[in-house]
Amino acid sequence: MPFYLADYHVHTRFSFDSEETIGAIRKMAAARGLTEVCITDHFSVNPEDKSYGLYPYRKAYEEYLRDSAGEGPAVRFGLEIGEGQYRRAVLEDFLAQADYDFIIGSVHNIGDITIRQTIRERGVDYAFDAYYDEVLGLAEEGDYDVLGHLDLINRYAWDEQGIYRLDAYTHQIDAVLKAVIRRGRGIEVNTSSLYKNCRQFMPNPWIVARFRELGGQIVTLGSDAHSAGRVGDGLAEAAALLKSCGFEAAAAFEKRRPRLWALEKFDSER
Ligand SMILES: [Zn+2]
Ligand SMILES: [Zn+2]
Repeated sequence: MPFYLADYHVHTRFSFDSEETIGAIRKMAAARGLTEVCITDHFSVNPEDKSYGLYPYRKAYEEYLRDSAGEGPAVRFGLEIGEGQYRRAVLEDFLAQADYDFIIGSVHNIGDITIRQTIRERGVDYAFDAYYDEVLGLAEEGDYDVLGHLDLINRYAWDEQGIYRLDAYTHQIDAVLKAVIRRGRGIEVNTSSLYKNCRQFMPNPWIVARFRELGGQIVTLGSDAHSAGRVGDGLAEAAALLKSCGFEAAAAFEKRRPRLWALEKFDSER
């Protein structure tokens, strides 16, 4: 392996919106020179969410145990939980019987409505305000290791109305980042949006730099791949971004404990 590179946001057929196997993901991770990959299938305890009731924990865990053994990149077992600040008791019950290495906390909905639908029905100003309120609630109350795609609303606002707000929500974003840091948690740099219309990291690089400035230390890199062909996409660029923001290491997780891997091999030029 030339250097350490870990993809900490990958979906498999145990997500409602993917058909990929863990084996195929691991094979692709090896072909692309990744050292580690973490499976993070969708899970929600909100009956209105698209993923509700569609995550078969036992099957996912069995396949993980089978396909993560032997030679090849390390595979970790994680989860992407939507709006984990709500229905906390149900979530706690679920997590108590499970054995995860890593949890991404994400906001996909505002109340019971998807972000995209909220923009269409309530307008972009309402949607931005309400979105960052949800993210702050999650940052303060949720059970997560890193916050997923922190400014996801920019991707959808760009798709829907050509709007991308770079610094209009600095106050809310600062509050979110401070809550994350206070709780000893982290954020991710999600590269999937580099290949969408807005062609930008999630969150925007200024948020990553701000996280560092405020004292943030834990950042994972994730492709958010829903098929093996996308595993590792944009990760070297994300590692370079982290380095240019002053980070010396990115994070990996085992049994929900962070472990840092050095970024020294990555050029800070994008
Ligand atoms: Zn997500
Ligand atoms: Zn995802």
